[in-house]
Amino acid sequence: CGIVGYIGKRDVAPLLLEGLQRLEYRGYDSAGIVITSPKATGLKMVKAKGRVRDLEARVPKRFAGTTGIAHTRWATHGAPSDINSHPHLDPENKVAVVHNGIVDNAAELRAKLEADGVVFASETDTEVLTHLIARSQAETLEEKVREALKVVEGTYGIAVMHADFNDRIVVARNGSPVVLGIGEKEMFVASDVAALISHTRQIVTLDDGEMATLKADDFRTYTTSGTRTTATPETVEWEA
Ligand code: GLU
Repeated sequence: CGIVGYIGKRDVAPLLLEGLQRLEYRGYDSAGIVITSPKATGLKMVKAKGRVRDLEARVPKRFAGTTGIAHTRWATHGAPSDINSHPHLDPENKVAVVHNGIVDNAAELRAKLEADGVVFASETDTEVLTHLIARSQAETLEEKVREALKVVEGTYGIAVMHADFNDRIVVARNGSPVVLGIGEKEMFVASDVAALISHTRQIVTLDDGEMATLKADDFRTYTTSGTRTTATPETVEWEA
């Protein structure tokens, strides 16, 4: 339902929780957050069925990081629960995915992955994306995501983090909105400008079939087949 992400220098958890709160008006049944930092060796995740404040209550006192993605879920596949909440991690806790939309061929992809020995943690359609990305042999995170999306049918706005590529967030859009917020040595992503308008007015709206890589001081956009696209930030006017 709602996505917000950040990469930069600020303490990321409070910033993402505030962003999720700004998406509350859209409705949701659960929420979650995953974070890391350039020096960290892994990902830290908290998720909870219920309100953003229920999630906040679970966030440990020390939950430091400068890169993260967060989600409010409106369940389509699998009941609202802690486990079905996003982000979804692979068994090695390397890949984290938040997803808005519906993977139409999730049942078929899940059956194939299970036949290959993959054990699913949740009942969501989203988790197939996590495993597909984690199992990709491609060398870059962008290619891993691209390979996964090739076999996925349906709608998505996704944001992906990977413990081995923790200088970036990779996002993609097909039928579910994704906007980038361009800052000074910091970048934002969200499913709705409402989540990032208090931080930047410089917005890039992705098209369907478009992806982006966000690094703290740089971003680039390209199609799901890898061709670079031009993205000129637009200044949005907004009455707070
Ligand atoms: N289809 C996904 C799920 O049920 C995402 C739902 C959403 O857009 O929040 O987990």
